[in-house]
Amino acid sequence: MKNVNYSTPEFEKAYTYTGADLGAVWSEKETRFRVWAPTAETVTLNLYESGTAGTEDLLEKISMQPDVNGTWIAVKPGNLNHVYYTYSVTIDGKEKEACDPYAKACGVNGRRAMVLNLEETNPAGWENDKDPHATDRMTDAVLYELHVRDLSVDPASQIENKGKFLGLAEIGTKTPSGHPTGLDYIKELGITHLHLLPSFDYGSVDEANLSVPQFNWGYDPVNYNVPEGSYATDPYHGEVRVREMKQMIKTLHENGISVVMDVVYNHVHDAESFCFNVLVPGYFSRINANGIYSNGSFCGNDTASERSMVKKFIVDSVSYWADEYHIDGFRFDLAGLLDTETINALIAEVEKKHPNVIFYGEGWTMPTEVTKEGYLMATQLNSDKTPKFAYFSDTIRDGLRGSVLREEETGYVTDNFEVTEQIKKCLLGQADWCKSPSQTVNYASCHDNNTLLDRISINMPNASFEEKVARNRLAAAIYMLSQGVPFLHAGEEILRTKVDEKGNFVENSYASSDRVNAIKWKTLDEKMYQDTLAYYKGLIQFRKAHEELRYATAEEVDANAKFMETPVASVIALQVKNTLMVFNPSMKAVEIELTEGTWDVCVNAKKAGTECIETIETGKVTVDAISAMVLVNKSL
Ligand code: CA
Repeated sequence: MKNVNYSTPEFEKAYTYTGADLGAVWSEKETRFRVWAPTAETVTLNLYESGTAGTEDLLEKISMQPDVNGTWIAVKPGNLNHVYYTYSVTIDGKEKEACDPYAKACGVNGRRAMVLNLEETNPAGWENDKDPHATDRMTDAVLYELHVRDLSVDPASQIENKGKFLGLAEIGTKTPSGHPTGLDYIKELGITHLHLLPSFDYGSVDEANLSVPQFNWGYDPVNYNVPEGSYATDPYHGEVRVREMKQMIKTLHENGISVVMDVVYNHVHDAESFCFNVLVPGYFSRINANGIYSNGSFCGNDTASERSMVKKFIVDSVSYWADEYHIDGFRFDLAGLLDTETINALIAEVEKKHPNVIFYGEGWTMPTEVTKEGYLMATQLNSDKTPKFAYFSDTIRDGLRGSVLREEETGYVTDNFEVTEQIKKCLLGQADWCKSPSQTVNYASCHDNNTLLDRISINMPNASFEEKVARNRLAAAIYMLSQGVPFLHAGEEILRTKVDEKGNFVENSYASSDRVNAIKWKTLDEKMYQDTLAYYKGLIQFRKAHEELRYATAEEVDANAKFMETPVASVIALQVKNTLMVFNPSMKAVEIELTEGTWDVCVNAKKAGTECIETIETGKVTVDAISAMVLVNKSL
């Protein structure tokens, strides 16, 4: 079957399988296998004793039978729990072996799939486990983006399971001087959703060599439906990573924290060796007529989400994580490479059983070559086509700190007041590309690019540490009090910095050492770090206590928000119902006239929270240089 055009309506009609049984379906008396391989001449199921590719421990080879819509099936009687398997396909006379794209468990480095009785991996009480924020609206969420390893790997975390899923399930951990670390720390911070960087099985860390410290963000998918092995205490036995990830999620839920997973359907680690592309050559990826892989991802390949069996694969995969692992939200890497139909289809499918689950992602416009006409990509500019999917606002991020693409560019908190109007739109959750706060994720930093403090240091190398911290806090106050969904890069609240051995700021730390990436828990011993942590906690508490900061629609925002006159053009004063927010990015204090009544200051340059710091009855208030002030009028 040379040169098959997968994108014709005829191919799609003949070879779109819609059943729910792809992969290995285990029961005590038999295991049923079904794989989609419409271009294969033969398909063989290989059963192995171990999960380590290359080990000569073949148990049996079973010829699979062709079935409907290009699928092949085999039924093996007996209890196959913990038996490993692969498929061998013959195409154009050549045989190739691959893992199962629908693998639910696998051996070390993800080369062999494993048959698994999933029930045995459920922690006690799993049937009662649920999303602690199930009834919240999107705009009630406070998202916290963390890499599994970064949280625990620093010795001062005093977390036992360093770099592991289980490290996130340890309670009562403290620094040597007694400050909470790990889960306790996150819980006290007050965020609602913990957003984990890729935690599915990825390729860039060698799971067979974990005694050597390795680090990668993990944006290189190998097995989409299996947890990453290097985060498990044992990557060789497929059931362990499944059990430990579930244990982590259950413990987080018990502590009031919902779990978001970063998913990377837009590209794979290696297009040629990706199992789906071995079983059905090139089907999963966008390849043009000249055989060139589309590379809008800048990672070597783009996923052909517009093809029916890729779309089904993505929908099935997201649903599986929501069903089997109780994942409460999905962050889509480069959603702008996936078509809007696929995004809407997966949301509709997940919503049937899990109306609580939230969806957001990167909606940048990417240069991709779609294989069929008539598809829109899930970009910011098409946000009206995906009403239940939110997008990161680079408008507020770049407005606050300067463009991530131009290091010399400054932002609102670093003396660039040309962006004042842009920041005002962002405070209303209404950047030019989207008017819905429920679809707008506001942030000042994430795992990509320099940390917030580092970027301020780069642009203002001569500023004192105190001044840099003041600018950092002002940025935090703006995105945390904006309409939309706030998002923090883990450690931003304790002035995270990424610096290499030579003292250079690291802009892209995807494969940097723990020294660069780890959360440095010892910094909690210093007052400036503690005060900034308390400030972030206070901002989160204030946001949670004031629903007028969390409107779901632009209509509600417009009906209740009003900008006030200020004596200096760069100073913004926004009143939403009875809350007045003043942002002063200038080097001078300003005096603001207040409307009638008694105003309680809840946020100023030094402190943030729900308690009144001072009461103002004089009709005017002074807002310090480089600071935010928030006042509440209880009589309104
Ligand atoms: Ca892996």
